[in-house]
Amino acid sequence: MNDNCIFCKIVAGLIPSKKVYEDDDFLAFDDINPAAPVHVLVIPKLHLESLADCEGAHEDLVGRLCGLAPRIARERGVGYDGPDGTSGFKAMFNTGRGGGQEVYHLHLHVLGGPRPWKPR
Ligand code: AMP
Ligand code: ZN
Repeated sequence: MNDNCIFCKIVAGLIPSKKVYEDDDFLAFDDINPAAPVHVLVIPKLHLESLADCEGAHEDLVGRLCGLAPRIARERGVGYDGPDGTSGFKAMFNTGRGGGQEVYHLHLHVLGGPRPWKPR
């Protein structure tokens, strides 16, 4: 745990969150300032600053993190049914200042639901 990290504090239960999913390695919770009707953040419990820090040893972790996105999207009613429908979701890693990252604990944004979405 990184003592200065807000998401580590959420993992530790020191800051409340609206939990959507949890297992030994991952936590998902609603974004406090949602940009879309469904806006969930999926994080590893392990503190990694950004996608740029994920090499080699972390590839399995990042793969499993990505695998949770369609599952959580489905559970929140924004799963993907096929190219002809209007269903689906956006999964996004903001990386570094240039990528618009504000919280430096790796997180995957999962956004979905009827548009328009809030511009960020
Ligand atoms: P990013 O800009 O990719 O670093 O995204 C950070 C996200 O974390 C933003 O969408 C914030 O709204 C969200 N956020 C910040 N603090 C909290 C919190 N305490 N609980 C839930 N989401 C948060
Ligand atoms: Zn952290």
